[in-house]
Amino acid sequence: MGIADVSGYVPAYRLDDYLTRETASSPDVSVPGPDEDAFTLMWASLTGLPRAEAEGPVLLRVPDSDIETRALVAHARATGVLGEPAAVVPLAPDAGVPDLLALATRLAQPGLGLLVDHRRPAGAGVPATASAAAAVRFGPPRVARVAAVATRHTLTFDRWRTGPAPDQQDARFVEEALVAVEGDALLAELLKSAGRTAADLAGVVVTCGARLRGARWARRWEVPAVWQAGGGAGGPGASAAHALLTALDRLCAAGPDGAVAILDLGWGGGGAVLTAGTDAAEDTAKPAASAATTARDTKAYGLAAWHGRATEAPGPWTSPAELWREMPALLGPVGYRCSDCGGIGFPRAGVCELCGSFEVTDQPLRRTGVVATHSVDHLFDASDPVQMVVVDLDGGGRFFGQAVRDVPRRLVVGDRVRLVLRRLHTASGLPHYFWKVDLDG
Ligand SMILES: [Zn+2]
Repeated sequence: MGIADVSGYVPAYRLDDYLTRETASSPDVSVPGPDEDAFTLMWASLTGLPRAEAEGPVLLRVPDSDIETRALVAHARATGVLGEPAAVVPLAPDAGVPDLLALATRLAQPGLGLLVDHRRPAGAGVPATASAAAAVRFGPPRVARVAAVATRHTLTFDRWRTGPAPDQQDARFVEEALVAVEGDALLAELLKSAGRTAADLAGVVVTCGARLRGARWARRWEVPAVWQAGGGAGGPGASAAHALLTALDRLCAAGPDGAVAILDLGWGGGGAVLTAGTDAAEDTAKPAASAATTARDTKAYGLAAWHGRATEAPGPWTSPAELWREMPALLGPVGYRCSDCGGIGFPRAGVCELCGSFEVTDQPLRRTGVVATHSVDHLFDASDPVQMVVVDLDGGGRFFGQAVRDVPRRLVVGDRVRLVLRRLHTASGLPHYFWKVDLDG
């Protein structure tokens, strides 16, 4: 079993100067936009994978999510990015890449792995960890082979029982105990199990609770490079999607003979060695992970709601029954086609809006199109007025909805746009997802 396909999504928002100071973060940390959450990151990563009608088991790790696993899967199914899963296996919020790979390599049939890093800072002064999502289809090793997986379970507390437990975020503790003790042993075990030496590695991707001095560890382990994905903060598993995407990126750059190790260190830790897949031998220039990642120009935005500076108006009413009844068609999105006049409309209706005919059938709609018209509501009490857009969809039908909150500029008539899934609002405690309009490309 190996990695057959991979697709990643890295939000391209950036913290502004004020928030960089507030959260003690570096300005290049990617954080989700105001209307992106764990599910929308996961959904965006899934859109880059080839479609499958039926999936094997889906191994899913979504931290800090207030939406149930089964609801996540239902939403992904309704939008067509996920086939019918054989089973859904939720992983612990701190599960890292080695945990996912260890499970995947023991699957009896090819499955799907979904890792989401959605970790908005808990408050002012808490460092932000970069967010990302990775979708992996396990099967023939086209992208990478899993050459070795190892775990190390350590009774670390015993060493410290005469004093208070050390802070796992403390950089000195992380470097001197976790990385030096567990990292060394784990890496040696992995290399032995993979039948490789440190000289074979293009580098090591490390996830732990602190920012490491990469050059120092590269010298110690005698490897060309040590990378930390996602800014280093947050602890084991915090940057799992970032770590996997980084490892596959570097593996791709290393070429047909390449190998990359991943270490996920907490109390003990897990690790894996990935070697180049079969595609690397055929086309070394083929990007593995980076091609599917979306990037946008640096843009600052305010986490006003997170800071408690914005107040949310009471949301609209919703209910599970309403979601059950309406969402499959709205999320499809599915409109209607009139067999009398040939018109296509959205949302789905029992009567044609154009000619009044009752001869209408369901019509799946495309998610790309051109802006027909738009408006910006300055009367509604909002610090950042939302642009409302009408889109003539490719293949027919009109969509009316909001522009995404982080669109780089106001949309204008004639813009090529695409529909992206976003959290619209939370009502009656239920997250409500719908399409918004974003610039295409
Ligand atoms: Zn009609």
